[in-house]
Amino acid sequence: MNVLIVYWHPEPNSFNGAMFRRAIESFETAGHEVKTSDLHEMNFNPVSGRHNFSDVNDAEFFKQQLEEMHASETGTFSSEIEAEIKKLEWSDLVIFQFPLWWFGMPAMLKGWVDRVFAMGRV
Ligand SMILES: Cc1cc2nc3c(=O)[nH]c(=O)nc-3n(C[C@H](O)[C@H](O)[C@H](O)COP(=O)(O)OP(=O)(O)OC[C@H]3O[C@@H](n4cnc5c(N)ncnc54)[C@H](O)[C@@H]3O)c2cc1C
Repeated sequence: MNVLIVYWHPEPNSFNGAMFRRAIESFETAGHEVKTSDLHEMNFNPVSGRHNFSDVNDAEFFKQQLEEMHASETGTFSSEIEAEIKKLEWSDLVIFQFPLWWFGMPAMLKGWVDRVFAMGRV
């Protein structure tokens, strides 16, 4: 099985960090392939916008989902987003590892979801 672990925590020695490393080790020991997105380590930009794309569908009015449909058809996601989408397409299982912050995902992980789960592609 191909496993993608999307992880965010600013402290590698945290409980979340320990669970992240243990998950990698456990899956690999069991014979599975693991890829990771360690968002803090990557300094992933959580802010969405035209920089998600290398081409423009509508230069007058930015509607993210229409730009995503265009980028899906023309292969014009930015290299940063394309790399993350490719990991998703590769995976059979996706694990999100994060501390609960105000009843939800911390900002960097929320931004990853906003930018990478692109309409027309994922
Ligand atoms: C901005 C903010 C918003 C928050 N919002 C919420 C919220 O809405 N709801 C909520 O419930 N909580 C909330 N919290 C609290 C947060 O989710 C918890 O403190 C969470 O445990 C943090 O995860 P951590 O990885 O930093 O834990 P850590 O602080 O690293 O560890 C948590 C506990 O696990 C122990 N531990 C650490 N490593 C290990 C290990 N390897 N094995 C066994 N035990 C270990 C530690 O001793 C500690 O007791 C919020 C915190 C912040 C900063």
